[in-house]
Amino acid sequence: MSRGTLFDKVWDAHTVGTLPSGQTQLFIGLHLIHEVTSPQAFAMLRERDLKVLFPARTIATVDHIIPTDNRDRPLQDPLAEEMMQSLEENCKENGITFYTVGSGNQGIVHVIAPEQGLTQPGMTIACGDSHTSTHGAFGAIAFGIGTSQVRDVLASQTLALAKLKVRRVEVNGALSPGVYAKDVILHIIRQLGVKGGVGYAYEFAGTTFEQMSMEERMTVCNMSIEGGARCGYINPDQVTFDYLQGRDATPKATDWDSAIAWWSSIASDRDADYDDVVVFDAAEISPTVTWGITPGQGIGVTEQVPTPDQMAESERAIAEEAYRYMDLQPGKSIQGTKVDVCFIGSCTNGRISDLREAARVAKGRHVALGVKAFVVPGSERVKAQAEAEGLHTIFESAGFEWREAGCSMCLAMNPDKLQGRELSASSSNRNFKGRQGSSSGRTLLMSPAMVVAAAVTGKVIDVRDLL
Ligand code: SF4
Repeated sequence: MSRGTLFDKVWDAHTVGTLPSGQTQLFIGLHLIHEVTSPQAFAMLRERDLKVLFPARTIATVDHIIPTDNRDRPLQDPLAEEMMQSLEENCKENGITFYTVGSGNQGIVHVIAPEQGLTQPGMTIACGDSHTSTHGAFGAIAFGIGTSQVRDVLASQTLALAKLKVRRVEVNGALSPGVYAKDVILHIIRQLGVKGGVGYAYEFAGTTFEQMSMEERMTVCNMSIEGGARCGYINPDQVTFDYLQGRDATPKATDWDSAIAWWSSIASDRDADYDDVVVFDAAEISPTVTWGITPGQGIGVTEQVPTPDQMAESERAIAEEAYRYMDLQPGKSIQGTKVDVCFIGSCTNGRISDLREAARVAKGRHVALGVKAFVVPGSERVKAQAEAEGLHTIFESAGFEWREAGCSMCLAMNPDKLQGRELSASSSNRNFKGRQGSSSGRTLLMSPAMVVAAAVTGKVIDVRDLL
C-alpha cells in the first residue's frame, strides 16, 4: 500500500499492472485531446484497425491553431483548416464529444475541463500538451503526453509510466498586495531550477496554497512542468469542493456526498513520507519577471538582471546566451525595459479571475503609445462571463484589443505572432527563444496585473506602484 501521499494513493488506485519494462500500466480516467497532437495518433489507430476504447472518457476542443479575431470557416490558414477538419472527422467517427468554436464550451483545453467540472480530485488525466499539469490543482494526477502516448490512451485508456518521486513544495504565509500565484510559481522555479523537478511530482502545500482560489492553484500547477516536474498537485479541500459543486460534469445528489468522501480520502496523510521537502516563505516573494530564455531566469521586479558571478557555474552558459538573445545587460535594473507587445491570456492566466485583476489595473488608464496590447480569454465561457461583468469595455476603453478564446500568442500557432525583435510582456508560461512566433522575438513572463502595468506605461514597472 502507499506511503500516504495523494500521488501514491491515486497511482495505486489506477494501476492495472506492472509491465515487463518495469513501468506501471496506469488507467487514465480522462483523456483531453486537441487539434495539434491528435491527428497522427488517430492515423496510427487507423493503420492498426483499432477504435477508441472509451470515447466517453475522451473530450476534444480546438485551441492552438484557432484565430482569435476572424474564426469564420474555412480558416484562412489552410493548414489550420486541415487540422480542424481532421479533428472534426476523428471525433465524429469515434463518437467523441468535441467542443468546437461557437459551442459556448470551446477554449484552451486546460481551461475548459476544469470549468465544466470534468477535472476532479483523485483522477488520472492525460493530454497531448505539456501544461496538463494544470489539472493537478484539483488533486488529480495529470500528465502531458506525446503523440504515440495519445495513441496508446485512445486505444487502451492506459499509459506505460515509471513512478515518480514526490517532493513537497511548501509555501507559508500571506502574499503581499500585487503578488500573485504567477509570482509564487516563478519564484519556486527560480529557486529550484528548470530541471529541479525532473523525476518528481510536486505536491504544493502550506498555508499560501490553502488560501488560494482554485484558479490561482491552477496557475501554480500549470507551470510545474516548467520546473521539470512531470506533474504538480494540491490536496483537495473545501475550496476544491466549493468550486466543483454544481458544475456540468460533477456528481449530483447523493453521488455528490460519495464523491466528497472519496476525494477527502485521497488527500495526503499528515504523516505521509516524501522523497524531498522544501519550504519557502511567502513574505519573500515579490512581483517576479523573467529576464532570460527559460522560466527559471526570473527576478523580483525591483532587482537587477543577475551577473555571472551571482550564479552557479552550471547556469552561466545559458545566462550568457540569454543576455545576448534578450539584449539585457547584467547588473542593470529590469524596471524601465521598454515593451512592444502586451499579451494577457493562456492556460496559465486566461481565466476570469485573471481578467478581473487585469481590468482592475487597466481601469481609467490607457495603453502607452506604440504598444500593442490584447486580452484573450481562455474559453468561450470566460469571454461570456467577462462581457457580462463589463470587463471587455474596461479593456477596450483602455486601448486593449478584446479577442475570442484560444491559445493566441502563448505559442503563436495562429495569426497572433510577435514580429522581428519585438519584446513582449506576457502572462503565458514559456519564454523560450522564438516561442511567440518570431524567431528573434523576446518574451518577459509576468502576472496579468504586471502585464497591464507594462502596457499602460510602455515599460516594465512594479505593479504595486499602480495599485
Ligand atoms: S495556452 Fe499555451 S501552454 Fe497553454 S495549451 Fe495553449 S499553447 Fe499550450
